[in-house]
Amino acid sequence: MSQPHEEPHGFATRAIHAGQAADPATGATIVPIYATSTYTQAAPGDHKGYEYSRSGNPTRTALETCLAELEGGERGLAFASGLAATTAVFQGLLKPGDEVLAAADLYGGTFRLLDKVFKPWGLSTKYTEDPSHEGFAKLITPATKLVWIETPTNPLLQILDIKAIADLAHHHGALFAVDNTFASPYLQQPIRLGADIVVHSTTKYLGGHSDVIGGAVIGPKALLEPVKFYQNAAGGVPGPFDCFLTLRGIKTLALRMDRHSANAAELADWLAVHPQVAKIYYPGLADHPGHAIAARQMKSFGGMISLQLHGGADAARKFLTRTKLFSLAESLGGVESLVNHPATMTHASIPKEVRVARGVDDGLIRLSVGIEDVADLRADLREALG
Ligand SMILES: *Cc1c(COP(=O)(O)O)cnc(C)c1O
Repeated sequence: MSQPHEEPHGFATRAIHAGQAADPATGATIVPIYATSTYTQAAPGDHKGYEYSRSGNPTRTALETCLAELEGGERGLAFASGLAATTAVFQGLLKPGDEVLAAADLYGGTFRLLDKVFKPWGLSTKYTEDPSHEGFAKLITPATKLVWIETPTNPLLQILDIKAIADLAHHHGALFAVDNTFASPYLQQPIRLGADIVVHSTTKYLGGHSDVIGGAVIGPKALLEPVKFYQNAAGGVPGPFDCFLTLRGIKTLALRMDRHSANAAELADWLAVHPQVAKIYYPGLADHPGHAIAARQMKSFGGMISLQLHGGADAARKFLTRTKLFSLAESLGGVESLVNHPATMTHASIPKEVRVARGVDDGLIRLSVGIEDVADLRADLREALG
């Protein structure tokens, strides 16, 4: 088999075939769900590469190989959740006393993990409110061992310049990790732009059907050796059925992302001029402050839109209970459209003063635009806006 970084095929082809050759034992065209915890050995140590399913499982290997090839990395490691993947990066690559530099607009669960789990463990984290690379440059120090970003960010959809921040981190001897959950590897491949590590909540676009929780870490083999050790030693691995569902989702990632982006772009254009909408955050809009960078580093602008209505929190509360196709639910990236209230749902773990100062107040609404007929989605929003 060719090396992942050689990229013999296009993205959609890799999504369907990478790591997914016919099953060597049976010829099964689709990677089987290897529901086994253990593997029979001919003699002690004489096995076929698998000994115990925490350490390795063929369904998981297929997923890990596919994810590595999609992100253009050498190695992929799958985890039981996005936060298990994030934990493995922090524990595998950092030690107490190290410093992390992150952008302030961050998934609430990642903030909680850094604040409530890793701060007591001895990691200190600095957050930059200014998401430009100058903002990072002001806070980076020799103690900074890891720069951690999302782009587009959650929930304000800020765009961060991956290449500029990669150069800055490396200039200061720090590792650079990108949580690529919001873009998916179809829209953006951070390793090609200089990132050392990519992290995913595969729960979102990669799985794509809101039916499985999972996470992944992708990067160079040597760098990820301690993360792989931690994966086996601590054991936060996904089961084979989870890996199967995620792989099945990935097969249609390219098609789904094109539709998510097209639907969201159309709704964003319409919402931007709607009389009830006070502010809209969508990187595909020409007046979004990160539009030019997004156009450079992303294939298209993704399926996430955030907005503020005239009438603030009260108007938001009404809107959230009125949509019918957009379900009021946490999470994102599935085929179905979701609406979310970050202040009380996904970002409730961030202290109120901190949240509000960042613009994540009770009036903020986040949409995950699905792949339904866009006319139906627009009608649903029109109705809910009243
Ligand atoms: C959901 C999410 C996570 C956490 O992933 P889980 O699979 O829920 O553990 C991390 N980062 C981002 C950007 C997310 O949206």
